[in-house]
Amino acid sequence: MLRSLTFAFVLCAGLLGVSPTLSGTAMANDTRPDYAFAIHGGAGTIERAYLTEKLEAEYREKLLEALTAGQTILADGGSGIDAVIAAIVILEDSPLFNAGKGAVFTNAGKNELDASIMDGRTLNSGAVAGVTRIKNPILLARTVMDQSEHVMMQGKGAEKFARRHGFRMVSSRYFYTERRWLQLQYALEQKTGALQDHDAEKFGTVGAVALDKAGNLAAGTSTGGRTNKLYGRVGDSPIIGAGNYASNASCAVSGTGHGEYFIRATVARDVCAMMEYAGVSLEDAANTVVFKRMGDLGGTGGVIAVDKDGNIAMPFNTAGMYRAAVTAGGDPVIAIFQE
Ligand code: ASP
Repeated sequence: MLRSLTFAFVLCAGLLGVSPTLSGTAMANDTRPDYAFAIHGGAGTIERAYLTEKLEAEYREKLLEALTAGQTILADGGSGIDAVIAAIVILEDSPLFNAGKGAVFTNAGKNELDASIMDGRTLNSGAVAGVTRIKNPILLARTVMDQSEHVMMQGKGAEKFARRHGFRMVSSRYFYTERRWLQLQYALEQKTGALQDHDAEKFGTVGAVALDKAGNLAAGTSTGGRTNKLYGRVGDSPIIGAGNYASNASCAVSGTGHGEYFIRATVARDVCAMMEYAGVSLEDAANTVVFKRMGDLGGTGGVIAVDKDGNIAMPFNTAGMYRAAVTAGGDPVIAIFQE
């Protein structure tokens, strides 16, 4: 636990002109930065030995592209919701991540996608689960939030709603990547030893959290779920309070990891509730929920979180988590392993 805490990646804002470091120590900030933004591309068994230099460079490049897209919107005075959406669409469109193109396969060889978005100002939220023909599930989650009186829609009904709101349906073949298909074959055949696919243990969900110039918080999460999941299984990502949560009273959180544990430990809401009701700092709240509450249950994964003062925390209890963060006046930080 202590080791994990030491490795926890915690950034604090207010580092005007100074690059945030990857140390495990929180840094106090006296003034709220103009904006703060963080993204993740999944947590899991990501070890240097299994990531080639070329692939690592591709991940870093795509993370920077997504971070920059969101940051540009925030720097221009745009909303946290828009920044979160912009970053997630880029990650969904990239075959590197387990969301949109490149999503993992279910046990039945299908892609069933989940996503959610939450506006911390109003607590409005939108979510979709088990959609199979929506190129960017995060955009449909936003449409559910903005254009319906509901919070969550699933499966065929969600797709009917999408059609009515002008979404173009893509063929299920759009989501296919050989890498994810092979992961399913490995999982089905339960190969071991040298043939084991380490990448299969990586979850790969994507998410973003933002504090905008108006002081509003937002969080979004999108995923293909877990390789070899049973038909109809829904994870934590579209469940408000489990894999995603935002409230201007406290913080915005997006999770990645073994979804069943995130649901049971109500991870995202717990981080915010600890801040809101118990006055705990973002760093302490995020660490407690990830390492103790979710971790002690046996769950693996991590969260990215930003609070109303622009502090950022990114704890995880896996070997790695693709992540990036930036605050106004600071340089972007991109990290993958425990550093
Ligand atoms: N949390 C996701 C799920 O269980 C998986 C992930 O984070 O990669 O559906």
